Amino acid sequence: MSYLIRQRIQTRLKAEEGAYRRPGASLRVGLAYPNKYFFGMSNLGFQTLYAVLNRLPDTSCERFFLPEDDLLAQHAPGGLCGYELGSAARDLHLVAFSISYQNDYLHLIPMLHLMGLKARAQDRGDADPIVLAGGPAVTINPEPIADFCDAMVIGEGEEVLAAIAEVLRGGGSKAERLEALDRLEGVYVPALFDSGYGASAPLRKATAGFGLVSGRANGPAQQGRFVRRLVVQNPEIPLAHSTVLTPDTEFGELYLIEVQRGCQWGCRFCAAGFMYRYPRYDALEGLKRRIDHGLKYRKKVGLIAGDLLGHDAIHEILGYIDAQGGGFSPSSVRLNAFTPEIIHYLRKSGNKTIAIAPEAGSERLRRSLNKTFTDDEVVESALRLAEGGILNIKLYIMIGLPTETEEDIEALCRLTLRTREALTRFAKRSAQM
Ligand code: SF4
Repeated sequence: MSYLIRQRIQTRLKAEEGAYRRPGASLRVGLAYPNKYFFGMSNLGFQTLYAVLNRLPDTSCERFFLPEDDLLAQHAPGGLCGYELGSAARDLHLVAFSISYQNDYLHLIPMLHLMGLKARAQDRGDADPIVLAGGPAVTINPEPIADFCDAMVIGEGEEVLAAIAEVLRGGGSKAERLEALDRLEGVYVPALFDSGYGASAPLRKATAGFGLVSGRANGPAQQGRFVRRLVVQNPEIPLAHSTVLTPDTEFGELYLIEVQRGCQWGCRFCAAGFMYRYPRYDALEGLKRRIDHGLKYRKKVGLIAGDLLGHDAIHEILGYIDAQGGGFSPSSVRLNAFTPEIIHYLRKSGNKTIAIAPEAGSERLRRSLNKTFTDDEVVESALRLAEGGILNIKLYIMIGLPTETEEDIEALCRLTLRTREALTRFAKRSAQM
């Protein structure tokens, strides 16, 4: 490892709070994020798996990231090392990629190369670590990288990691380990998955015999061979929160707390809503404990949820954060759920800009997405925020949606101008908008 690489890793480790370092463990895991440190450490799923793996008995988990451009040339093939212990990937039992975005699929092969591992799963042997992939992108669409992975986790990974670790602890040849992994619920082993069709088979046959994600999470076997999508079942496993705090992330000022997983609204474009079905909110008491913990490290907590304001104790949660002298930043809010109390806490927490999401310009197109807000509701929502003192309002709107017409684009322009017009009197009063 070059001096510059070592120096960068050391500087980062010194700036972190909460990292694990477990030398001497009998099971050695590398958790890889197929992008740079900044993005990996901004990812709550990656952080959660890091904590889960390091809390398994006699297990160490080190982080691997794609090097920054300025250090890429200094990494020889096989030279990418774990942050915590400096281990080479080929000396580990498991290399697990946590992949949130399909764009990062392009980094998988370069990272395997930098780790000194053959790209294709079939070319790796008994002495190589098992290469596993999981995360939202893999759950939605595993096939583009199936040839490069020994196994893939479909769905939520928190619970199945312990079972995967047990399989690897049991040893055996690569073929034996893969067969054991293949028996685990939610684990897809591409080499052992016989879809029952060849390249020339008609689509009709393919769809009858092959499916990755069942209609029901952890549901019973369906016709054909299905890998079932995992949903955390153990109520003792909390939703996610920050594990390693570092200023070198998108959310360096925040302690992140997942308040909700899944979402009840079922907007048709939304992966989070479908991938994490069914919707779950953390209960108030558990949230209070996590808020207390987070506020020891940061002045503000980041509340992560698809529909944060849909929590039935949202006023109590925000009041509790305020009473502890902290603030909060919301990830996502439904535009028709603002109350004066919520706006008060938003403002008190220093949130100067709020994004509301009509998603489409016309009511017709919105209905087709399962977003049933009317134009009036969009404008009223912006007005409520402005009356509460929040004058910077963003509208999230997608263009290019299926069935979109010129009329929808014109409606988008009208809605934007109407919202702007409605806010003008506040802008005049405060000389800002
Ligand atoms: S409300 Fe938000 S999180 Fe829920 S389904 Fe719609 S877009 Fe997704």
